[in-house]
Amino acid sequence: MVAIQDAEQYIRMTCKQYGVHIPVTFCKQLTKRKRAMGLYHFNKRFAFDAKKITLSYEILASFELFKQVLLHEIAHYLDHKERGKLVSETGRMNTHGANFNKWCRKLGIATGPFVPRRLVPTEEQKLAIRKQFS
Ligand SMILES: [Zn+2]
Repeated sequence: MVAIQDAEQYIRMTCKQYGVHIPVTFCKQLTKRKRAMGLYHFNKRFAFDAKKITLSYEILASFELFKQVLLHEIAHYLDHKERGKLVSETGRMNTHGANFNKWCRKLGIATGPFVPRRLVPTEEQKLAIRKQFS
């Protein structure tokens, strides 16, 4: 498991390296819900208006998983910053497209919307983490 202090240090250094100027925080709500292990929050109505990144404590199960999820959300930020918007002409959200995948490759992580299966924490790991951070 990754210690929270180590995770926070890695987050600071990684954000500095890629020029990410929004808060990145761990979120208990996200740990309780099952939908996502990380979220990139932004304002849909304006061009590049990034808000914050929130992470589930579950990603601390392994360094590889933590790194994958953190850099995935940073790829959203960099894609958004480069394209200026994440909504297409037809009003549909375009968040895991070709430009997003380009950033994933640059950051050295898996492309697409999902965490690779081999990195998904076991039920046992999830339970232990929820116990520790609830
Ligand atoms: Zn995503």
